[in-house]
Amino acid sequence: MSQPIQTIKGTKDILPVEAARWRHVERLAGEVLHRYRYEELRTPVYEATELFARGIGENTDIVGKEMFTFQDRGGRSLTLRPENTAGVARAYIQHKLYTGPSPQKLWYAGPMFRAENVQAGRQRQFHQLGVECLGSEDPRWDAEAIVLAAEIFESLGLAAATGAWDLELNSVGCAGCRPTYREALQAWLRQRVEALCADCTSRTERNPLRVLDCKVPACREVLAEAPLIDAALCEGCVAALVTVTTLLEAAGLSPRRNARLVRGLDYYSRTVFEFVTRDARLGAQSTICAGGRYDGLVAELGGPPTPAVGWALGMERLLTLLPAELATAAGPAAVLLTAPGTPLAPGFGLARALRALGVALDLAPGGKLDKQFKHAERLGARFAIVLGEQELAEGAVTLKDLRARTQERLPLDAEALAARLSLA
Ligand code: ATP
Ligand code: MG
Repeated sequence: MSQPIQTIKGTKDILPVEAARWRHVERLAGEVLHRYRYEELRTPVYEATELFARGIGENTDIVGKEMFTFQDRGGRSLTLRPENTAGVARAYIQHKLYTGPSPQKLWYAGPMFRAENVQAGRQRQFHQLGVECLGSEDPRWDAEAIVLAAEIFESLGLAAATGAWDLELNSVGCAGCRPTYREALQAWLRQRVEALCADCTSRTERNPLRVLDCKVPACREVLAEAPLIDAALCEGCVAALVTVTTLLEAAGLSPRRNARLVRGLDYYSRTVFEFVTRDARLGAQSTICAGGRYDGLVAELGGPPTPAVGWALGMERLLTLLPAELATAAGPAAVLLTAPGTPLAPGFGLARALRALGVALDLAPGGKLDKQFKHAERLGARFAIVLGEQELAEGAVTLKDLRARTQERLPLDAEALAARLSLA
């Protein structure tokens, strides 16, 4: 036999038990998103490479070294989406969503692709759920989006009070005031490049704010003394930060100001935030959800000037925080057994009718009845519906409650049976 083929490094199968947990999270998150009046937008998983190069920025880790880029048959450069803010902004421009009510509040969920060092909490195909609110610079939308994320965590039983997550908040300034800070920080870093890692040495020239986000311990030690953005923030940026904080507190959250918090991407302005966990299972990969305001992106991509704010949460990291056993949908409710020698057709027809009436039902694979009962128990079924020669002759079925170990005769009638099962 030849070698069996396996998943590619950095990708994972989501097996049925795990998939049930995903559906649980997706369903509860979907309900919260609906209550906040966010609407779903689905975009393709691959786009023109240029979209990400322009939308994320050449000087970011993502564009610099993490993209899965390939050529199509016509020689066009395409890239598997490493994130979806650029894709949403592209769709917003392409479909002129700015002609609709403003702001447009959109959410998405799906796989993202980055060529990363694989480790716990870090895959090459991973999944994000994200929101984007496009068309207003009012800080109420920043606050609303942040509260929405908190509510998703809470709907899943993750409370800030138990240490499941903390909200960190900062401002990275705007096109007006950030350059001042960028220069001050750059000058400060240039005097200390010997103490920084190789990545940060080059970041000092290309993207100095990104140095603040470095996870290398030696860099972190140096950065403890780095100048903070506070001295540079303009009046408008300070006012926006105060408003976001006030609104979050009014909504019962306790944001923690982290003056060193920045985002890896170029297009952020003003509000940036992260939901971080102290849960040891995630180790260094402690950021579950991250986002901020990106007032320049849509114009950068050729659309009308459109301030916007959004976040993305890592589904795998979120799922790690949830208990292994979730109260997800139960296994099959019933299994249909056909005794050996009895024609399959009547039961097969009954199965179709029962499923149409909402009953979750399996067909037993045939063979001796006791084997079929064992199969039903392995499936975790509550009921066995048995059809043999005698039942057929009487126009009846035998219904066995596998938990209570009781049994009864019922008419071979889908409506009556479905009613009986729904009472269980
Ligand atoms: P990090 O600093 O951990 O690399 P990032 O800044 O690259 O994160 P974002 O682009 O902001 O991450 O993505 C938002 C969220 O998506 C992260 O907070 C994380 O939960 C999740 N995420 C990002 N990259 C990965 C990955 N490779 N594997 C699993 N989850 C990821
Ligand atoms: Mg990253």
